[in-house]
Amino acid sequence: MHESPIRWSTAIQWLQSHAFQSRGSWEARFSKEQSHQRLLQQESNDRYRAVVETAVDAIIIADKSGIVRAFNPAAEIIFGYTAHEVIGKNVRMLMPEPDRSQHDSYLQTYRETRERKIIGIGREVTGRRKDGSTLSLDLSIAEWRDIDGRQCFTGIMRDVTARNQQAAELQQANATAHTARLDAEAANRAKTEFLAAMSHEIRTPLMSISGFTDLLARKGRLSVEQRRYVSLIRTANESLSTIVNDILDFSKVEAGQLELQSRAFSLQTMIHDTVAIVQPIAARKALRLKWTVDRAIPEWVEGDDTRLRQILLNLLNNAMKFTDLGTVTVSATPMLGRDGRDLIQFAVSDTGIGISVEHRERLFKKFSQADGSISRRFGGTGLGLAISKRLVELMGGNIGVDSEVGKGTTIWFTAPLPAAAAPDAKPKGMAVAEEANLCRGRILLVDDIETNREIVMAYLEDAGCDVVQAASGGEALRLLGENAFDLVLMDIQMPDMDGVAATRLIRQMNGPVRDIPVLAMTGNVLPQQIQSFINAGMNDHIGKPIERKKLYSKLWCWLPRKLAAAPAALASSPLFNHTKLDELVENLGARKVEHTLLMFQKQLAGCFEADIATACIQAHDLINAAGVLGFEQLLDLALALKDTTEADAAALPALMAAGRDARDAVLAIIETTVLPHLAAPGLRKAG
Ligand code: ADP
Repeated sequence: MHESPIRWSTAIQWLQSHAFQSRGSWEARFSKEQSHQRLLQQESNDRYRAVVETAVDAIIIADKSGIVRAFNPAAEIIFGYTAHEVIGKNVRMLMPEPDRSQHDSYLQTYRETRERKIIGIGREVTGRRKDGSTLSLDLSIAEWRDIDGRQCFTGIMRDVTARNQQAAELQQANATAHTARLDAEAANRAKTEFLAAMSHEIRTPLMSISGFTDLLARKGRLSVEQRRYVSLIRTANESLSTIVNDILDFSKVEAGQLELQSRAFSLQTMIHDTVAIVQPIAARKALRLKWTVDRAIPEWVEGDDTRLRQILLNLLNNAMKFTDLGTVTVSATPMLGRDGRDLIQFAVSDTGIGISVEHRERLFKKFSQADGSISRRFGGTGLGLAISKRLVELMGGNIGVDSEVGKGTTIWFTAPLPAAAAPDAKPKGMAVAEEANLCRGRILLVDDIETNREIVMAYLEDAGCDVVQAASGGEALRLLGENAFDLVLMDIQMPDMDGVAATRLIRQMNGPVRDIPVLAMTGNVLPQQIQSFINAGMNDHIGKPIERKKLYSKLWCWLPRKLAAAPAALASSPLFNHTKLDELVENLGARKVEHTLLMFQKQLAGCFEADIATACIQAHDLINAAGVLGFEQLLDLALALKDTTEADAAALPALMAAGRDARDAVLAIIETTVLPHLAAPGLRKAG
């Protein structure tokens, strides 16, 4: 056994000497041809030596018993042994337990069975360095025989510890990133859920404030000062609702939950209606409000009119807020987008305070206001433009600003709104129903919060509905089993059985009740929440805080038409004293009273919109007819307005607003209750 060689070259010599010694004397066989052979052999040796000694992989040769015969420089680096320390010793010294103890038996088994586990195949193994530490090795082993037919093994090993470590680190980093993403998604979901829950919690008291204020304004006999207070509460409540809606909208956009609806709508009408909403603010601030729609824009276009109105309203409100003198203009013009698409450009321009260059840059970022003094002076959350931007982008358009400090601002946006065919006409009477009370029917009102029930109950009774209340899902089911109803207004979150579960059970009941329209009445207004109500079998939903007009419009859609068309029995309220009208019919006959009412309708339309002097004259002219026809609240207001002068400046806006409210309520009652009542066959005869 040759044990002294230190380096690879010596290992080759060992192989050569064993090979050639066995064939007798080297010198004796030397010949020309052999000399040539020797040179070739030498060249071959040199080539192998060059390869092996410079290889970055460890190369180890062992004999059939596992005794190391060669150990290249890379192996020295990898294992920390010198070749001298390893050659002649068993290769198992380079292995950790349990391979170290079992290596002999591995070899033995291989010799007997020839079953390959590594040899000729290669795999990753664990090695052991001189200092006892372990390392990962990609190992491949070649089996060969020397010139004497002795079995030898060449092992080539690459240290893959660093690579494995990197892979493990990468895996760990990926796992961490994955967990972080899941955490972020969960946090975002939690945020959205929290906001949805908060919005529900906030909407419920908001509904009480707006509902009772509305009832107080319409039904209460209030002094001028009390009316002013009510009007202030209303304004504050409207601002609060706007903030809640803004926050909810923003979180919806952030969570990717805001979906646009698309339908055909009249752009002219949409802009007209939107401008009409802010007209009172313009009148109060003595600003001119103008709007133009380019003639080239088709009358009917396709898009999300609700969201467009929201953007325009936001821009208009800002324009009004930041302008004290001059004009606010809304325009819509067609334009060609850079990508060749047909777009409509909307612009809201004002002659207000303008926006500085620095602030323009962050104008569309959330919670951004020009400076702290703006929020103190004008209020607002700084969310309006951020939401508008997101909405515009969702529509596939752009938003931008041109402004000069002290001169004014134009905020414009574009939206692709393709021309559309005119939609089918609304069912006759729809517009009237949206205004008020053509909605008679027997309604089951389900809500666990008593104040909510009280408000909705008052709205429904005003509309002439017959209402039964239930405070829980369970009670609703019991009442539905015992009585006939035309429609259910169902709250969602209730303690014992929620609205969704109750609706599912209604849909499983026997008889016609299973098909009764069920309308969700809820502060949960995220799209997926609404979808879950529909999936549970509900027909529609009304968002809280419930607005009277919206409620009536939903009732109109879902109550059976025959009920809606039935002539009304007149009921008295602070708004309308029907005994006066009955007396008049007695004396003049229904036809003449009908004629008087139609005249009165015309007289009333458009009242209290202009300046105070005109309002005083209008109030004066109304007094007689309002009194005779029994419209008592309107009479009170007309009396109060008739005598006011510019000196009562503080009370005037509230009084005018109350006058307009009373006017609208009276017009609605005439249209939907009094005129149908007078048209009833019995009364006609009397006329
Ligand atoms: P906010 O609800 O606070 O009005 P917005 O996002 O709608 O939030 O507007 C952010 C800010 O941009 C405003 O507070 C104001 O500083 C500025 N701004 C917006 N519109 C105008 C305008 N027409 N004129 C002057 N400043 C404006």
